[in-house]
Amino acid sequence: MFIQEGGSGSMDIKVGDRIITKKPHPCKNNEFIVLRVGMDFKIRCTKCNREIMLPRAKIEKNIKKIVTEETEN
Ligand SMILES: [Zn+2]
Repeated sequence: MFIQEGGSGSMDIKVGDRIITKKPHPCKNNEFIVLRVGMDFKIRCTKCNREIMLPRAKIEKNIKKIVTEETEN
């Protein structure tokens, strides 16, 4: 497992990563799974399973941590 701290610089976010956001979802959870990356990101709340589409710039501002699961391909 590899954790990136949010803040300066551009972030390396990949599909399957989990992100911890500064602002929680209305369900009070602040952990999301990344489903799609690109101009817009698709993320899913790990508590209520709701899917959200957001532009990259907005997501990067709201990220506190990125948790990458190291897997072998
Ligand atoms: Zn939620």
